[in-house]
Amino acid sequence: MASLVWFRQDLRIADNPALRAACESGDPLIPVYIFSPQEEGAWAPGAASRVWLHQSLGALEKALQGLGSRLIVRSAADSLHELATLCRDSKVDRVFWNRRYEPLVIARDTRIKEMLEHEGIEVRSFNASLLFEPWEIRTKSAGPFQVFTPFWRACLAEADPAAPLAAPASLKSPERWPESTPLSALGLLPRIKWDQGIVKAWHPGSAGAEDTLSRFLHEAYEHYATGRDVPGRLGTSRLSPHLHFGEIGPRQVWHALKRFALKRGQHTSWRRSQFLTELGWREFAHHLLYHFPHTPEKPLREKFARFPWRDDQGAVRAWQRGATGFPIVDAGMRQLWHTGWIHNRVRMIVGSFLVKDLLASWNLGAAWFWDTLVDADLASNTLGWQWTAGCGADAAPYFRIFNPVTQATRFDPEGTYVREWVPELARLPGAWIQQPWAAPADVLREAGVHLGTSYPRPLIDHKLARERALAGLATLDKERST
Ligand code: FAD
Repeated sequence: MASLVWFRQDLRIADNPALRAACESGDPLIPVYIFSPQEEGAWAPGAASRVWLHQSLGALEKALQGLGSRLIVRSAADSLHELATLCRDSKVDRVFWNRRYEPLVIARDTRIKEMLEHEGIEVRSFNASLLFEPWEIRTKSAGPFQVFTPFWRACLAEADPAAPLAAPASLKSPERWPESTPLSALGLLPRIKWDQGIVKAWHPGSAGAEDTLSRFLHEAYEHYATGRDVPGRLGTSRLSPHLHFGEIGPRQVWHALKRFALKRGQHTSWRRSQFLTELGWREFAHHLLYHFPHTPEKPLREKFARFPWRDDQGAVRAWQRGATGFPIVDAGMRQLWHTGWIHNRVRMIVGSFLVKDLLASWNLGAAWFWDTLVDADLASNTLGWQWTAGCGADAAPYFRIFNPVTQATRFDPEGTYVREWVPELARLPGAWIQQPWAAPADVLREAGVHLGTSYPRPLIDHKLARERALAGLATLDKERST
């Protein structure tokens, strides 16, 4: 008999509870990855995620080969059919996987578990991607949380998450391996090579994730609380795509941080650190997605479903292309397009601009991010957009409208970030780089900036846009009071 480990968003060998349990079964082991995007509906991996996935699967394949094993890759419309066939052909009597929390995936996995068990196959699932299961953390009245601070306090009141599991030293192979599709046949890479910026910016796979964490702890952790808000600096960990694909798990991050802090005599402060709190937001995002599974499509605060969004496709396209005439917004959208990632502060700025200045629905922003982010994650993307739009749990109130110039002046005061991503403005002095339309003509001339030609004029007057957004909000409140 044999055991099958179904890899999904847990593309790692260390601290992988499903893999560990399968090893402990003592039987030969078949590691499998099934690419079945149709089963995820509108939230199948986007274009940037697929580029990442291709490389991450390649790294996992190598890691498994290093343990004397293989990765059996399949492309299928129906994971159940594929698993059942593999089980029958390879005499598998136990299937192991680590849980995912997206509503469609939960429904699919529940069905698969029932059907396999019906065939007499033992199925065991584990938690590899969260510190705490979404159903473990409850309010006093046993309901789900909708506010972050008490949620995270409840998490921290729990015992520390278990220490990470070591990677197995070797894996037992079956006598005969099932057939595998070459990775290249999954069609994850684009035909037109727009992905070079992503390939250059990242090192997908567990080794890349561990290096990234170690570099962050040694170089940026100490100043994280302030550095994390400065997009022109490497002040955050950039672990998000690694965490999304499970190349590293949050328990590994938790315990690495703990070890790092204890070595420096910081016995308790690391538990309250801003960095751990951000991992807490990731947990909160999963908690919300699990308990409010309609939120990827619908606002948690229902009245926002009636918000009078505008349908201005030209404006949305200018936003997507980084051509709004607001340098910080354009820098963010270009960083996203080139590298598949944006700094968190800038995600909030570009999100607020789309939803509040352009009055485009947050769903459009979430969909664009879904296709272009390498860390696109249903839980965190939904939380991020609903937070920004003011329609989610514990969200920024809708009436708090980011002024893109004030935000840019505060968080990118020298224009370092804008200079990198909007090079046509690079020669403007710091005083004008965040609002070139206000610069004197001779300053623009000297910097080689021709508004309307080399760089767009602002798409909108922020002051008027703000009033328009507040008027939109007032219609919701009026409807409620009548
Ligand atoms: P760090 O600052 O180093 O934080 C460490 C880790 O904590 C991150 O890797 C991430 O896993 C988690 N984290 C940090 N901030 C948040 C947050 N606000 N919400 C949830 N988890 C967080 N994050 C995603 O992983 N995927 C998304 O699709 C996503 N979409 C977003 C959309 C919008 C509109 C906004 C405002 C935020 C979104 N975020 C998303 C959250 C956040 O921007 C990223 O997690 C963060 O920028 C990743 O960079 P980092 O790894 O350097 O973060």
